[in-house]
Amino acid sequence: MEIKVAKSAGFCWGVKRAVNMAIDTLRKGKNTYCLGELIHNRREIERLKRLGMKFIDNMENLKRGDTVIIRSHGVSPRIIKELKNKGTSIVDATCPFVKDVHEKAMKLEKEGYPVLILGNPNHPEVIGIAGHLKSPLIASTLEEVEAIPKMAKLGVVCQTTLNLNFFREAISTLASKVKELKVYNTICSATSIRQKEARKLASKVDVMLIIGGKNSSNTTKLYQISKSVNPRSYHIESKEDIKEEWFREAESIGITAGASTPKWVIDEVVNYLSTLYKGGELSGRGVCQTTGGKL
Ligand code: SF4
Repeated sequence: MEIKVAKSAGFCWGVKRAVNMAIDTLRKGKNTYCLGELIHNRREIERLKRLGMKFIDNMENLKRGDTVIIRSHGVSPRIIKELKNKGTSIVDATCPFVKDVHEKAMKLEKEGYPVLILGNPNHPEVIGIAGHLKSPLIASTLEEVEAIPKMAKLGVVCQTTLNLNFFREAISTLASKVKELKVYNTICSATSIRQKEARKLASKVDVMLIIGGKNSSNTTKLYQISKSVNPRSYHIESKEDIKEEWFREAESIGITAGASTPKWVIDEVVNYLSTLYKGGELSGRGVCQTTGGKL
């Protein structure tokens, strides 16, 4: 059995930075809270909890002097203001690429463009981007893009983890009905590299495993892309989810993982498979490189 791990599998630069910032803060022994899950990975969250991180869904019980981590997805200015009013100390781990989306969206609005965000309206990153705008439009499907009326002007930004094909289709649809269209492709290169590699690897192997949280948007997109070229694609959170029957008559397994999947979880899966298929060739193992957010 040949096992191939995508070079881009695992933590992206922004997530790695956020996790490191959180761990540094915990080491300083501060009473540290994270607003929402730091990353969409249940097992890494459990590890952070063991290190003392407290996860909260709202700011109700925060007290003066508490430390709050802002995760890589970023938040709206309203949240920052509220945290400051409460006297908390803020460790802002918003990914600089997400901050760049905030800035571009605000610039478009300042220039007089109604702003459309392409992305999932329930995702914290999109909620954070929308929170920087007065009256944002949001579309997550082609039907929603088609439902946008003819307009004289429109500015577009997108969720950093958006599917590149959806972005292309959406922009081509908008181009036919908006007179002055200004588009910022804010898909993070860490995302596009992962998506391209997932598609390529999935088309070459018999079975494809995509590792990451079921609540991770970028992992789910990798799974959808992989499934579209290889029906034998499976989204797993850990080695415990693997079923041996998936590999019947298979000679090769491809592995990729979302930007929020720690390397140690990927290694567990690779080690488990290599134990199952002793003597198999392990190709790419241990090269779960991050892209540094660059192409
Ligand atoms: S995917 Fe890109 S934008 Fe999102 S956290 Fe990672 S590096 Fe930042």
